[in-house]
Amino acid sequence: MTAMPYRRFLCAAAALALAGCPGHKTSQPPSGPGSPASATGPNRLVVLLVIDQWPAWAFEHKRPMLVGGGFERLLREGEWHRGRHPSPATLTAPGHALLGTGEPPAGSGILANQWWHRDLEKIVKSVEDPDGPVSSARWLRVPALGDAIAAAGTGAKAVSVSLKDRAAILMLGRSGLAIWYDKTKVTWTAKEVPPWLAAHAAAHPIAAHLRDVWTPLDPAKLAQLSGIADNAPGELGESGFGPTFPHAAADTKDPAEAINAMPIGNELVLGTALAAIDGEKLGADDVPDLLAVSLSAHDLVGHGWGHESWEMWDMTLRLDQQLAAFLAALDAKVGPGRWSLLVTSDHGAAPMTEVARGGRITTESLKDAANRAAIAELGPGEWIASAKYPTVFLSAAARAKPAKDLPVVMKKIMYALRSFPGIERVGLTTDFAGRCDTRTGDAFEICMMLDPERSGEIFYMPRRGWVLHDAADPTATAHGSGNDYDRFVPVIMLPPKRTPHAPLEKVDDATIYMVRISTVLAHWLGVTPPTSLPREPQPPPAPAP
Ligand SMILES: [Zn+2]
Repeated sequence: MTAMPYRRFLCAAAALALAGCPGHKTSQPPSGPGSPASATGPNRLVVLLVIDQWPAWAFEHKRPMLVGGGFERLLREGEWHRGRHPSPATLTAPGHALLGTGEPPAGSGILANQWWHRDLEKIVKSVEDPDGPVSSARWLRVPALGDAIAAAGTGAKAVSVSLKDRAAILMLGRSGLAIWYDKTKVTWTAKEVPPWLAAHAAAHPIAAHLRDVWTPLDPAKLAQLSGIADNAPGELGESGFGPTFPHAAADTKDPAEAINAMPIGNELVLGTALAAIDGEKLGADDVPDLLAVSLSAHDLVGHGWGHESWEMWDMTLRLDQQLAAFLAALDAKVGPGRWSLLVTSDHGAAPMTEVARGGRITTESLKDAANRAAIAELGPGEWIASAKYPTVFLSAAARAKPAKDLPVVMKKIMYALRSFPGIERVGLTTDFAGRCDTRTGDAFEICMMLDPERSGEIFYMPRRGWVLHDAADPTATAHGSGNDYDRFVPVIMLPPKRTPHAPLEKVDDATIYMVRISTVLAHWLGVTPPTSLPREPQPPPAPAP
């Protein structure tokens, strides 16, 4: 990869149209993937469907077995590509921010699901608002699709629905209606809950599912499709569930949490998304609205049992049916041919480490090793504030040490991290962050993961086959690396004015660079892409503690 200005790189890196990039009119329809084929009437609704933690390798393996349901309809009406995430920040919040904004962490400022904040001296969540109780896009540095629609001033609406607040909020930005699941109240919530949402929540209470039991649709079929037993090595369960079926929400410590890891989680999100079409009158006129939907339960099932498991096979077969019903409902509510849809993911996931011959590493063991290395130089103390992927933050006490001592301390910490067999790459953030347009190859990709102001002092990345997790939250598999299984995700595009064809059996050769997704959607919406809008004003410096 040759050096080129950062923004020009974002514009040139995909086999997609250049509209929306400097020197290109944003009103031109794109050519290539996602381009119109034949007219069936104006596009009224653009749907972004994110299947959280959906690796390309897993879907391509399962595709031949998914016949006659929603996935096959997608592949009969759409184009099927492999999408490549731009940086090793293959995590939920950076991934959803990327889909909404077109920017990796170096632009979006969304480093991870949570990160250490030096001035606040605490971990902040990606959508935590220090000024109020409601989650917000406070930490997002750039506009997203909701902001792009608002900037167009056409009166079009933007709505998102997810079980996770970070997924719902970061796809839209500061404008639009983001809806998410509030576990503490066992209901849907939003910054301002519209009356239709309150009515929907009352008519279809989530609390009615707290005694649901997840049993497999067809155990014999799961055994045949997966080729493994229900309790394959490495399966741990999730949210209080064990490794094997059945999974009864009421038997877990926190049933309101457990439904996040059940197929009903997907059904609740899709049901609320359809209710939003009625409630917000989406797709009711010829100015297209946006409906962004993120299926978080898919991520938790991946974490708990892995993509090879009976649980993930069962969830996929159910999702196949749920999608068929959702697409039929779009036809009924918006009209056949009057909606467009892009299905993709925020990140992939590793195959089971037992299969990949890797292993699992706890964040705590990395933090301990880093601290012991610092103690060897600085004496007893708490020298590490956080070691959550992808960066290690020195504590305030460490940063207060004389500047001449710190390079040796950091070198020792890097040696300590490199001694883990599952850690492949360790480096200094100052060597890689900022001026991404001047960097090439791996250095460019690492740069895109880092924020010069917000990231920790040292970054690290797991080796192929190895996954990271917190000690309190062991996982069967995970994501968060620069490896291809985390980077590559399916992208299925049902553009406006499409013509059905024989269901696709094989993924297209043209890889889509994931920074382009927000631009494709902006074109379908007829608005200026978020990457071509002015930057949001930077948040004011945080108050001193
Ligand atoms: Zn995840």
